[in-house]
Formats: sequence, C-alpha cells, structure tokens
Amino acid sequence: MPARRRLVSRKQSEGRMAIDRRTALVRMSTTVAASTWPALAGATGSPRGEQDPWPPVGGRRVRKIATEEAWSIPEVAEAVRDVVRQRGPSLDLKLLAQIYDAPPGTPPRFLPELLDVDTVRLAEMDASGVDMHLLSLTMPGVQMFEPDMGVALARLSNDRLSEIVRRHPTRLAGLASFAPQDPGAAAKEMERAINTLKLNGFIVNSHTQGVYLDEPRSWPILEAAEALGAPLYLHPRAPSDGMAAPFRDYRIEGAVWGYGVEAGTHAVRLMLSGVLDRFPRLRIVLGHMGEALPFWMWRLDFMGAPGARAAGRTNQLKPSEYFQRHFAITTSGVEDPLALRFCINKIGIDSIMWAIDYPYQPTAPAVAFLESAPLSDQERAQIAYRNAERIFRITE
Ligand code: MN
Repeated sequence: MPARRRLVSRKQSEGRMAIDRRTALVRMSTTVAASTWPALAGATGSPRGEQDPWPPVGGRRVRKIATEEAWSIPEVAEAVRDVVRQRGPSLDLKLLAQIYDAPPGTPPRFLPELLDVDTVRLAEMDASGVDMHLLSLTMPGVQMFEPDMGVALARLSNDRLSEIVRRHPTRLAGLASFAPQDPGAAAKEMERAINTLKLNGFIVNSHTQGVYLDEPRSWPILEAAEALGAPLYLHPRAPSDGMAAPFRDYRIEGAVWGYGVEAGTHAVRLMLSGVLDRFPRLRIVLGHMGEALPFWMWRLDFMGAPGARAAGRTNQLKPSEYFQRHFAITTSGVEDPLALRFCINKIGIDSIMWAIDYPYQPTAPAVAFLESAPLSDQERAQIAYRNAERIFRITE
C-alpha cells in the first residue's frame, strides 16, 4: 500500500479509536453491550426493521441461520486424499485420513455429507427447521496444497459455491476460500469472490504451512478483507508443526482440544502483534464460543501488554478492546448455556451467532440448544439470525 494512503488511514483510525476505547470500556462494565461492528451494522437488530417476518413464537420457532457449515467439492477432496497419502508431519493428517482415505470396508465418515448439497443437507435442514446454512469449504480448505494448486482449487470451489447459492438463494449462503500460500493471488480471489460472485465473506483454516495471518507476508490478505468490508472466519485446524508434539498422544489434536488451542493462539497473535492497528476495520469471526478467548480476556488484558512490549511490539488497544472492535463469535460445537450466557455478558449480544458445524456436529441437538437456552426472545433472534444477516450481509 502506498505510504500516503497508509498515513491517511492511520490518522483516521486514531480518530475512531478515541471513541472506540471509551465505548469499549463502557461496554465492558455493563452486561448488555451496545452494537458492535457499527460499520457493518448501522443499527442493532435486523436490517428488515420493524416488519420482522420471523418473529419468535413463545421463544421457540425462530428463523435459524447456521454460520459454520462445512462443505466440499470432489476435486478438493481428491487433492486432500493425495496429501494424506504423501504422509508428512502435519497433525491434521490423522483426522483427514479417516475422512479421505478410509480403509476399504469402513463406513464413509462425513465425506458424503460434505460433498452433498441438494439432497441430504437440505432434507436435514428441513427436518430440523434450519432455514439457512452459511457454507464454507471444510478444513483444511486449500491450505495444504502447493500454491498454484491452492489458487486454482480456491477459484474452482468459489465458482461452485456461487452456483449452489444461486440455486438455493433462500437456503444457502457462502464464505469464499482463498490460498494464503500466495497472498497476492489470495487478495485477487477475495476481491472476485465479493464483487463478482457476491459471496458473504471468507473462510481461512488458521495457519498455512506454519505461517500466521499477523505475519507481514499475510498482510495483503488482511488488507483485502478490510477493504472489501467482508468478515474473515478464522476456523481451526490442528496445532501447527511447531507446537504439535504434546498433542500427539491421546488424540487431543482435534476438536476436543487442539483446534481451540491453535485457533485461539492465532487470534491472540493477531491481538498482540500490533497488526490490528494497521487494519482497524478488519472483521474476524471465531467459532466454538470464541475458542475460549472471552473467558481468557481478563488475563490477556493483565498480561498481554508487558509481554508484547518485551517482544518489541506496541499495541494501541488492550486485547479486550481489540476483541470488541474486531471479533464476533459463533456457538459451533459448544452447546453450553452457561458458556453462552458468559459470552453474552462479556462481549455483547450483537457479536454472537449460532452455528451447528455440520456435518461434524449433529443438527438436532444444536437446534435444541438454540431453542431451549435461557434467552429472551430478542436475544434468541439476534443469535439465531439477526446478527448473521448483519455481519455476513445475508439479504435473502
Ligand atoms: Mn467447523
């Protein structure tokens, strides 16, 4: 980015920040936070305004947009299978082998559901009263491929995704994939995905071959997401090679623990590296109840700044202020009403969206969780669909 433009945007960000810091402090002292992400939001609540066509009835039937729903295409599945067969140190290969390279005779795990859209998925949605899936290319996306192949398969899967969404505009929306291995090509594809394909944001599966998004070579990706005003869903994968060893025993590299450690670490890097001062309007979504970061916020604030200073980094905001300004979370895979209430109190009802994590989590319990959690009708509507409509610009 030219120096002149950068200077202007930094100056503007300082002006905004004085307000953001004050409002963040006010928010954190109250249990009901004001609207986060005002640039996307405009106002709290549904863009549909007063005429809400999906009013909650007795706190039960409510429009439901599930926001972390996995999907794939045969070309990507085949390429992942090739990666699995090449072996290698990546901890992701344990789970991926079960899905993509299962021994003959074992029942297929997840793959049929991932590759299907029109039959099993929509029927399951109908049976459980789920109105919409926000689809994203499943972990590890295109991030384990050689750069050229990653770029090509991201493009192909985004084309496929936009066709599917056009076929089912009221049932499906989509997050675009990109290949962080080639940040320049990634930025171009991100622009195409939003401006031409009209997709709803981006999915990235944490690190790419050990590189994190706070590192300078990744900045074109952050710059593109910010400039396009589209959120980046930071989805987990298994811990990167550099921290993999303790996760190898007991199969704790995946959803049970490792995913949250990896994605949470990635988000903490973003908050403490200073990079969010360069991209003050970048929006990031974390799954799995914020990968436990809302629970960690007090300690991150207390310990974060001295550590970052010792590492030669300066940050204009505290971690909790960055979290408030940049992050929203989803409930994928954490169907715990106490954790949900804690997050509402800590980060605000405007920053929380419902998700299933289909097909890795069963749909019916996720729906039951949303419908039975002790929430006001207003809170339930925001978590079930209003925040998703606003944050991901879902208009159908
Ligand atoms: Mn997921």
